[in-house]
Parts: sequence; C-alpha cells; structure tokens
Amino acid sequence: MLGPPGAGKGTQAEQIARARGIPKISTGDILREAVHNGTDIGKRASAIMARGELLSDEVMIGIVRERLKQKDVQDGFILDGFPRTVTQAAALDEIVKGRAPLVVVEIAVPDADLVRRLSMRMVCESCGAIADAAAARASAKCRQCGGKLVQRSDDNDTVVLERLKVYHQQTQPLVEYYQMRPTFRSVNGSQAPDRVAADLMAAIESAGGGADAKGARP
Ligand code: AMP
Repeated sequence: MLGPPGAGKGTQAEQIARARGIPKISTGDILREAVHNGTDIGKRASAIMARGELLSDEVMIGIVRERLKQKDVQDGFILDGFPRTVTQAAALDEIVKGRAPLVVVEIAVPDADLVRRLSMRMVCESCGAIADAAAARASAKCRQCGGKLVQRSDDNDTVVLERLKVYHQQTQPLVEYYQMRPTFRSVNGSQAPDRVAADLMAAIESAGGGADAKGARP
C-alpha cells in the first residue's frame, strides 16, 4: 500500500488485513517495537525516525525479507510503509518472485490535508491503534483496548514537514515505478475513511487481489 504519511495507510491496511484474515506488515510498527525493546536496530532507528528520515535500504530490505519468510504470509499479506524507495521496490520484486503479482494501491492525498491530519492524529500508547482527530476528541481512550491516546513523537510540525519532503523525494518515484503494471491502482484518499475503504476494496478486487487470489497483496 503506497501513500504519503497521514494518507490513512495504517488504518486502511489494518481493516483489509482483518477482513481478509491476512497479516498487515508495517515496517514503521516493526521499528517502533525495536526502539521500545532497545534492540540494536531500535537503537540505530530511534534518532533517524525522530528526524523523519529513512533507515537504510539494506536494513529495511533485511527486515522485510525475514518477515516474508514466515508461515503466516502464505495466503497473502499487506505491506504498509514498505517499499519506500525504488531500491526497496526492486528488492521486493525479487523477494516475491514466483508468487502472485503484487497488487499496488496508492492512496493519494494533497499535502495541505496531510499536515492538518498528522498534527491531529493520536495513537494508542498500549496497542498502537490509530485514532483520527474526531475519535480522539470523542474519547481520550483507545477504542480497541482502552489504552491512553498520545501523539506519535514524529507527528510534530517540523518532523511532519521533513517526512513529507522525504516522501516526495524518495517514495513518490515509486508511483512511476509501478504505474505501468496492470495491478496498479490509485484511490482518492481525501474522501471519508469509509469511502476510501470501499474504493480500496474495489481497487484490490479489480487488480486481481480478490479474496480468492493467493499470493502477495501489498
Ligand atoms: P511509518 O510508521 O510508516 O510512518 O514509519 C515511521 C518511520 O520509520 C519513518 O519515518 C522512517 O524513519 C522509518 N521507516 C519505516 N518504514 C521504512 C522504510 N521502508 N524505509 C526506511 N525507513 C522506514
């Protein structure tokens, strides 16, 4: 699943993964957990993430390569936050060789909307669930586990602008990398979340990633 930070990739990927019974693999979540657990990768990642920059392709490709060796991805998976560079995309093509073609969906949202959304986004301190501004206003507690909602440390204004800059420079070229493929789709992410979800489901179906298709579905 492609899209700028704040486009709703995490929330949408979560819903699709649940509906399909396949794992959502979020490289951001994997890194945040590594930071939390104080692992070697976590120690290296923490400062880079705090600046809104990207970790090296080598580290990220290694993480995803290992994750995609696990059994639970046999019937498909959703990637959220990977690939983020053309080098990562080329490595992913290599990793999934022999599986069903990758279905690539872009959630497109203009920058002005993203800055507003990111500065209001809250996440659950305990389970990592994402709450948008309306949900956070309605309750200071997570809908899923009752945990406390906090702002993600890299959602502050300065880091948000850096993350958007990095997205345009390094990740947006992926649209060009993928768009000629018959399994590429783009949906309008500026609509209400339910509408985006419906468009995404339809896009995935029409791109050949229907519930019956076995293989990879990022
Ligand atoms: P996310 O939760 O996807 O917004 O990711 C949070 C941060 O983790 C990013 O701003 C990067 O610093 C780092 N990160 C996550 N995925 C990748 C990736 N595929 N390549 C490089 N850095 C990543």
